[in-house]
Amino acid sequence: MKKTIRDYDLKDKKVIIRVDFNVPIKDGVITDDNRIKESLETINYAIDGCAKVILLSHLGRIKVEEDKAKNTLKPVSVRLSELLNKEVRFIPETRGELVEDAINNMSSGDIILLENTRYEDLEGKKESSNDLDLAKYWASLGDIYINDAFGTSHREHASNVGIASILPNGIGFLIEKELENLMDAIENPERPFTVILGGSKVSDKINVVTNIATKADYILIGGGMAYTFLKASGVNIGSSLLDSESIEFCKEMLEKYPDKIILPIDVICSESIETKNCRECFITDLKDNEMGLDIGNATVKLFKQHLENSKTIIWNGPVGVFEQEEYANGTKQLCEILSTLDAKTILGGGDTASAAINFGYKAKFTHISTGGGASLELLEGKKLPGIEIINNK
Ligand code: AMP
Repeated sequence: MKKTIRDYDLKDKKVIIRVDFNVPIKDGVITDDNRIKESLETINYAIDGCAKVILLSHLGRIKVEEDKAKNTLKPVSVRLSELLNKEVRFIPETRGELVEDAINNMSSGDIILLENTRYEDLEGKKESSNDLDLAKYWASLGDIYINDAFGTSHREHASNVGIASILPNGIGFLIEKELENLMDAIENPERPFTVILGGSKVSDKINVVTNIATKADYILIGGGMAYTFLKASGVNIGSSLLDSESIEFCKEMLEKYPDKIILPIDVICSESIETKNCRECFITDLKDNEMGLDIGNATVKLFKQHLENSKTIIWNGPVGVFEQEEYANGTKQLCEILSTLDAKTILGGGDTASAAINFGYKAKFTHISTGGGASLELLEGKKLPGIEIINNK
């Protein structure tokens, strides 16, 4: 068991909390503040415990000087302040006198948000390569380090692994919740345990399929990745997305797990992703110039039969080009089916999460992960360095 924020007396301590404020921002306006909201429980706990709260987060990528202005955390500090109903002091620097003076002048219960940690990537990728001097500097600003940035926990950065290797440390409530839900479902599922996989490429999910096949009772495959499996099973997939280098892998998996891997039996297809002209047909009726862009209704029914009996379901990757109305039905139907089940239902982050939230199903799942990459790595059976470095109780 990892140490958590609860294991420390926070009173009057300078507590550095690594949060994940990597939110989408368009023209200075935050278009989805879910990640900020998910951080509130830990921040409020620290304030209530009379800590001096120093928040660190990255936002986007900083490769050239011009990236800085569009990836400043200033708008996040404003939104956070509204959500907490409390002043959040934003320091537009990641190090130096301004930072140090602000921290030295804090009273217990104050909150400071420093500028985007990836500003430090501009010269020598110091944040992203876990530069020891940078980690030591940030660690020198606090007494206790709490990691609550699940979305970055699969990365080894100065602001997570680096600081944690120096200061007394623990995880926050968000990471605790993510681990409880995801790890428990993967390692200790109530059965039947079904995993739905979608998204575009098989090559991105080879390690997930390999690992999950040893644990799940069923793997329902949709999305672009289904067509490489279908091709491997001998079906003509027309001009659907094909990942030719993964055909051999798919063949092996289908031979090894013939009853576990369930593939689409019908599709919504079109001659091009751009045209709205589409039709529904059995998978065996795809013409050479047609591509499958969503699962069809017979596949939804087939998937439903497996889902209805399941007690644990993890879903990673949309089963169609959900961004377009014509190909969103399969993903929507699965949201609807999962929302009615008496089962533990968990959504990986990234596209699946944004699809489900956009379709209005945010409150209908047991858990929606805030980390696409991190949850995928857990499904691959990997350890997350940002969490591994945290001390055990
Ligand atoms: P990923 O980044 O691997 O999670 O893939 C997500 C993307 O897969 C989404 O943008 C979907 O539009 C896309 N996708 C889903 N189904 C298909 C399909 N049948 N053909 C092509 N792309 C698809």
